[in-house]
Order: sequence, then C-alpha cells, then structure tokens
Amino acid sequence: MAGGSRKPAARKLTASGIASARSAEEERRLHRARARDLADALVGLLDEDVHLTITDNTSTMVSFRRDRGLLRLRAHRIFLEAPREVVQALARYVRGNKEAGRTLDAYVRAHADQIRRIRAERHAAGLEPRGLFFDLQLIFDELNREFFGSRIEARIGWGRSGPRRRTRSIRMGVYLHDSRVIRVHPALDRPDVPLFFVRYVVFHEMLHQAFPPREVDGKTIVHTPEFRAAERAYPDYERAIAWERANIHRLLRRPTGWTFDLDDPLA
Ligand SMILES: [Zn+2]
Repeated sequence: MAGGSRKPAARKLTASGIASARSAEEERRLHRARARDLADALVGLLDEDVHLTITDNTSTMVSFRRDRGLLRLRAHRIFLEAPREVVQALARYVRGNKEAGRTLDAYVRAHADQIRRIRAERHAAGLEPRGLFFDLQLIFDELNREFFGSRIEARIGWGRSGPRRRTRSIRMGVYLHDSRVIRVHPALDRPDVPLFFVRYVVFHEMLHQAFPPREVDGKTIVHTPEFRAAERAYPDYERAIAWERANIHRLLRRPTGWTFDLDDPLA
C-alpha cells in the first residue's frame, strides 16, 4: 500500500493550542454572562420564571413553551446582543403579540450574515484533520495541487464518532457548502483502509466545491454530469469503487465509537 501520509499522529498541546483554549474559555464566560443578563431582563419584563436556552440552531430562531409555570424559551445566539427594544419585542412575542414577531423577524434578517458565520463556526468546531493513520490535511493539499490548481478552499477533518448505530449505509464523506467544510467518516481511519481509497473520498468531496449543485426542472442535482465525468477521470476511480464494493460490509459492521486495539483482527 502506498505509504505517503500514513503515519501515527501524536497529539500535542502546543503553545497556540493553550492560548486558543484560554480565549475559548473567556468566550464561554462572556456568553454565560450575556445569557444571564438576557434571562434577567426577560424575567423583569414578563414577571414569570424563565428557563432560557441559547442555541446555534439556524432553522428556529425563537421558540417557547410553558411547562408547569416555567417559561422555557429557546433563542438563537444573536439575541444575546439584542438591543433593549428587541428584548422587549421578545417578551411581547411570548405573550402572543404578533406585531412583536415582525420586530424579531427584522432583527433576524439584519443578522443573516452573523447567523451564517455562527453556523460555519459550528460546522468547523473541533475539526481535526489528523487521525491515527491518515492526515486528511496532507491528502487534501496534495489533491488540491495535483487536480485543482490549489483553488479549492475548504477546511477538512474527521467526522465525530457518533453513538453506536446500526446503519445500512455509510456516507464516507460530506461537504458542507455554506461553511466549506469537508468531514470524512472516522470508520476510514484504520490501517486496513488503503490510502488510495481515503484519497478518493477526499477528492469526491472536493469536487462538490468545484462542481456545485445545479437546479434542473426545479430539482437540485448534486452529482451533475460534469461532476460525474470529473470523478470518472480520477486515476484511482475504478480501483476505489472496486475496493468500496468489496469492503463496504466490513466498514458497516464497524462501530464508529470504538476504542482502538492494534491487535484487532481485521476481517
Ligand atoms: Zn457526493
């Protein structure tokens, strides 16, 4: 098997790692303080007990329900910095005032960029390109030079190990257009997975940026004919597809939240 970027990656906490951890802690402290201020303001305005949850959820900006005398309110992070009149509108909104909903909508619209940025941050959070056996950044950089004239701009990392799930299909990678993030399934970070296959998965996700989805007759085509043609032109395409067919059942059987054992018999 071609070696290249296959190497164990020792994780060290570097000086810059410590610095960014500290500022993240600072960030969280500020976040909590602002959430407290917002909850205080709402209790003052509503004169009822409030349980406030701040979310990064981009589909629902504000939602609430009452639960045994407690108002459970979920609000997007942008409301932590809302001016007084928006906080007042929030209070009127949970009292059923429709007009207040329009004020909140306007505030959300005015913060569309920030909401997108927060979502991108969340997608990139904890993105770790170095696995135990493959360094995805190295693979990405090589492919970018070799096939894309270094024009692909994306961050890459291993997907998070989810809870053990029985699944009939496995998505080897994903490309998130808004945040330009590529995640590769952690089941591929194994010594019995050939480098050419991991490279092919990364290549496929990079193609998603090079050939974005297209609308055809009101339908979104993700893998356009141009995408498929470029993919078939990839030198290892046949080999990678053949390997996937022959090994997919093993990858599926594999829990993704394993503890790794080098003596683990594979197959
Ligand atoms: Zn795809």
